[in-house]
Amino acid sequence: MARIAVIGAGWAGLSAALALQAQGHVLSLFELASQPGGRARSLASEGSGPPLDNGQHILIGAYVETLDLMRSLGLSPEELLWRSPLQLTDAQGRGLRLPKGPPLLAFGRAVMAASHWPWAARLSLLTHSLRWALSGFRCAETLTVRELCRTLHRQPYAELVAPLCVAALNTPAEQASAQVFLRVLQDALFAGDGSADLLLPRRPLAELLPEPALQALAAGARIHAGCRALLCAPDSGGWAVRAGDSVQPFDAVLLACPAAEAARQLQAIAPDWSTQAAALRYEPIVTVYLRAEGRLPFPMVALQESAEAPAQYLFDHGQLGLQAGRFAAVVSGAAPWLERGQGGTAACAEAALAQVMSQAPQLSGLRLERAVAEKRATFACTPGLRRPAARIAPGLWAAGDYIEGPYPATLEGAVRSGRQAARSLHAELAAVAPRATH
Ligand SMILES: Cc1cc2nc3c(=O)[nH]c(=O)nc-3n(C[C@H](O)[C@H](O)[C@H](O)COP(=O)(O)OP(=O)(O)OC[C@H]3O[C@@H](n4cnc5c(N)ncnc54)[C@H](O)[C@@H]3O)c2cc1C
Repeated sequence: MARIAVIGAGWAGLSAALALQAQGHVLSLFELASQPGGRARSLASEGSGPPLDNGQHILIGAYVETLDLMRSLGLSPEELLWRSPLQLTDAQGRGLRLPKGPPLLAFGRAVMAASHWPWAARLSLLTHSLRWALSGFRCAETLTVRELCRTLHRQPYAELVAPLCVAALNTPAEQASAQVFLRVLQDALFAGDGSADLLLPRRPLAELLPEPALQALAAGARIHAGCRALLCAPDSGGWAVRAGDSVQPFDAVLLACPAAEAARQLQAIAPDWSTQAAALRYEPIVTVYLRAEGRLPFPMVALQESAEAPAQYLFDHGQLGLQAGRFAAVVSGAAPWLERGQGGTAACAEAALAQVMSQAPQLSGLRLERAVAEKRATFACTPGLRRPAARIAPGLWAAGDYIEGPYPATLEGAVRSGRQAARSLHAELAAVAPRATH
């Protein structure tokens, strides 16, 4: 069996490490932070109550690899995730509610029942959706979501497609890739019963995968936490990794750190790959945690966004069983706020607080708990984007939500990438280096 280093213990690195460990390889896992999870981690607790997460995360029923991985660790997604048919309603209960059943049919019925829209709007959405389905959810690579919806009635565009796009791709519809958006729709609406279901964390993110995965790995792997690992030039048929003062040889290395870090480390080793990874642009997300008395009509409600009202969704953590009286307002595509520089996050948080006060009248005593800004939350998912390949060189692979694939930056994209890179690396080692695999 081979000695393999995995650099980065986000969801991609953990997925890859678990798959490689299952193949019997000798693993070393390096993680810069003191805890696993990367962008989908829980933050150190401040005061009482369960810890806050680095950002509110939403999963959907179509996240089959993520759910499978959780089950393989003995976890119960049924207990850890609150599940409901997709509902995109505001705090007054207006909006789209998918009934149970086959997703495409349920979508059609939900649109027909959306009485807050005139018939012209409902028919326009149905005919556009049908057209997208008939074209196999494919379109020109160069189209933005806005261009794809040029002829769509303005109400379903503004009240459904644009907020859905920013939630799924974290990129405004005017800039977002229509092809990736259609792929997300396809997986949600065509991947079978329950694929469009909303799955909301009922426990801190650390418990959903990172901590249990690390525990499972600790049984056989060497875990180096709080340790920056640096890839060194090839070393007699393998690769070397510098961590602190020591340099260790490996048969193979899997880089599961973010794209920018991988690009830096590979500047001299794989310049073309590095240039492509370095060219990715990013979109920030600000999660504004609030405290209040009261209850929303549904654990996740849509907010109406405008230049002064930045949040798209509000989550009721009390209803999810996380913590009573805690709410999370999510500001995707938060660049205009953070570009203000110092004070941008605070201004965004104040604006979200005022927005929730006016749009969720059932909440009282609203106050800020904490605002968490992640500047590089996801790559900007724009038309025709070329993403780096998983294979960099013999014995050198990369995994992460940014690696080429059909998905935007998501947990499912990260898990799929990690598992796929592990399978390919194992196959490569078995084929070319019996030395490394016996
Ligand atoms: C605020 C926010 C909200 C989000 N919401 C959603 C959502 O609702 N649904 C969804 O599906 N996705 C969501 N995402 C996206 C999702 O979190 C990411 O796609 C996913 O976590 C990426 O995982 P990754 O393993 O590819 O990368 P990362 O999580 O970035 O992991 C990389 C790891 O490498 C480590 N590292 C870096 N350099 C080194 C080094 N030199 N040595 C060792 N370790 C190193 C880092 O510390 C990190 O732990 C959200 C992201 C954010 C930030």
